[in-house]
Amino acid sequence: MGGEHAIGVHSRRADPAPNRRRGVLPLARDRFRLVETAMASVMRASAPDAERPAAVLAALAGGFLGPDHAVEVPARALEFLDRLASRRDRDQLLGVLRLLDTRAGALSLTGRPVPVSALAPERAEEMMQRWRSSRLPIQRRVYGALAAIILAANYGWPGAAWERIGYPGPLGPAPDAPKRLEPIAITDDEELVCDAVVVGSGAGGGTVAAELARAGLDVVVLEKGGYASESDFHHREGDAYRDLYLYGLTLTTTDLGCRIIAGSTLGGGTVVNYTTSFKTPEFVLGEWAKVSGVEAFVNGELDASLDAVCERLGVNHDSSAPGSRDLLMERGLEKLGWHCAPLPRNVRDCSQDASCGWCGFGCRRGAKQSTMRTYLEDAAGRGARIVVGVDVRRVMINDARAIGVEGRVGGHRLRVRAKAVVVAGGAIETPALLLRSGLTGQVGRNLHLHVGTGAFGLFDDEVRFWEGTTQARYSAEPRERLGEYGPILETVPVHPGSGSGAIPWISAADHRALMDQFGHLSLCATLTRDSTKGRVHIDRDGNPRVSYRLNDADENSLATGLAMSGEVLAAAGATEVFSLHPERYSFRPDGDGARKAWAEQVRRAGFRGGRVTLISFHQMGSCRIGVDPGRSAVGPDNETHQVKNLYVADASLFPTASGVNPMISIMGLAHRAGGKIAAHLA
Ligand SMILES: Cc1cc2nc3c(=O)[nH]c(=O)nc-3n(C[C@H](O)[C@H](O)[C@H](O)COP(=O)(O)OP(=O)(O)OC[C@H]3O[C@@H](n4cnc5c(N)ncnc54)[C@H](O)[C@@H]3O)c2cc1C
Repeated sequence: MGGEHAIGVHSRRADPAPNRRRGVLPLARDRFRLVETAMASVMRASAPDAERPAAVLAALAGGFLGPDHAVEVPARALEFLDRLASRRDRDQLLGVLRLLDTRAGALSLTGRPVPVSALAPERAEEMMQRWRSSRLPIQRRVYGALAAIILAANYGWPGAAWERIGYPGPLGPAPDAPKRLEPIAITDDEELVCDAVVVGSGAGGGTVAAELARAGLDVVVLEKGGYASESDFHHREGDAYRDLYLYGLTLTTTDLGCRIIAGSTLGGGTVVNYTTSFKTPEFVLGEWAKVSGVEAFVNGELDASLDAVCERLGVNHDSSAPGSRDLLMERGLEKLGWHCAPLPRNVRDCSQDASCGWCGFGCRRGAKQSTMRTYLEDAAGRGARIVVGVDVRRVMINDARAIGVEGRVGGHRLRVRAKAVVVAGGAIETPALLLRSGLTGQVGRNLHLHVGTGAFGLFDDEVRFWEGTTQARYSAEPRERLGEYGPILETVPVHPGSGSGAIPWISAADHRALMDQFGHLSLCATLTRDSTKGRVHIDRDGNPRVSYRLNDADENSLATGLAMSGEVLAAAGATEVFSLHPERYSFRPDGDGARKAWAEQVRRAGFRGGRVTLISFHQMGSCRIGVDPGRSAVGPDNETHQVKNLYVADASLFPTASGVNPMISIMGLAHRAGGKIAAHLA
């Protein structure tokens, strides 16, 4: 849903070849020149027409959804665009929308001099069908950027669409539960002083803050998101993405190939995540020791921290009652004789029933042992001060030593002076902050994403794959076959706002028909352990941009995992199985032939650059730990190689991908970091 190169019309070289075909549809290369010229004039316009993007989005909504979509779609889609991390991406997308509403712009982009807002739904639909598989990158990319946003803007909120598909929406109002933390209010430009300031309050930040406070240090925690607890969890899907997720769920890799999903609220990802609580596998710890040269991975040190964290979070194997989604996966796996096991979870007194499926929008019961319910309470109990809504923009550095941080909160500037600065903003935001602060070297490199895709299965019986224990079963079968970098299979709750963007769109009617069967779908996801190395850069405003191009090995592993996901659903009794490619690549289980042909079809279709919906819930490794400053950003005791008293304590530290859901590994590393940093300060 964004990305410089998605709409990167400015960066294209003008084609020197003259247009010899005046009066006919311009050639592709000449069309780029027209687009560039028209785009430049739109961008130069002193008073951009604010209503044009909404009018174009209304026409496109008709094209994607048919005539009877929610009237709020254009306004909601514009709200999504507002949340993009990069102002330039947003301006470019809005520029293209405005351009599409001029005769010259429409001619250059669509081949017809008809402003898009004037198109009937059928014409807008035809245009989107052409753009979906266009050979012009700009058309494919505009399609890619807008499809998910427009579909989510219709299906993410209460209304006729939810009624039609039988999705109940929030199960009653949020409970009247008391607030357990008291963030301090910042009402003016202010300066605080403390021993250690922690940026970010998620898996890493919450844990390290508690450990530092336990060591007797005066701690300040700064969190960019708000403070939302049980009584605030409204469970309206579309609004929950805005309120609890990083950039309101609009972050993608620059080629739009993979959506990047992370929490942004007090407690970070641990508030919205699915509670799967794997310890770091032995073979991964061994690899981490080799890659980083850090002995702690294999000498029992990290192990002790992992155990301490599991104890504090109440990780247990007795809270995995499967909902229908997990039962179907289990049934398929058992029929095939493949590995299937229950998942350990960090919950206490979890109901493990239908209401669990909304946990991605916050657990109303307080059963999820997020850092908000555990480590941040521990830290606050020992006097740590918490500030929410503060976007830390730079680390203050004097003579290669960190002396504090500076951020914006409301309209105010907040400075926190500290003996130690601990950055734990997650693997996208941590390198962005360090790069903004002038660090270089390995900062931002070696980014790993557990890129995930999956197969949908259509079942005769109702599944309601949005409900049930968030995650209860997994299978390591593909990894057992492919080796340590093979994927694993899991399933996740799917709600209609995000689900509608992953369902194939070949026409408004076909998509609608599939959405009408949404309650009969199930998902078997395949999660890579990637070896691809991406990179976090910053744009001119200092906000993150993520470059990531799947390597052949990971693409191959996705193809194998997806084929196996399809096989599981077929074995579970699906009447049709399809991938998350925008084309409807599907098979009806009927002997092995159709399934094998489908597996070959999706492998050939590929997985890079937006060819399929790819999602990352796990970002890692962008400031990795290690002894060698030429190969890592952070030393064995979590201090950056370049700046003293500046530490990292989050998923950025991973030397390679963890291969399992990473929360416990992150918390283990942050727990250990707390001890190291406290020792430095002693
Ligand atoms: C929907 C979902 C489901 C998941 N399910 C699981 C699961 O079941 N099991 C599992 O192991 N993992 C799961 N994960 C992944 C896991 O939650 C994350 O890997 C983990 O939370 C990352 O920890 P972190 O400390 O690196 O960053 P985060 O937990 O993301 O915390 C970073 C925090 O820093 C804040 N921040 C960022 N920049 C700044 C700044 N400049 N100033 C102030 N604050 C800032 C952010 O707002 C955020 O709150 C899931 C993730 C998601 C999104």
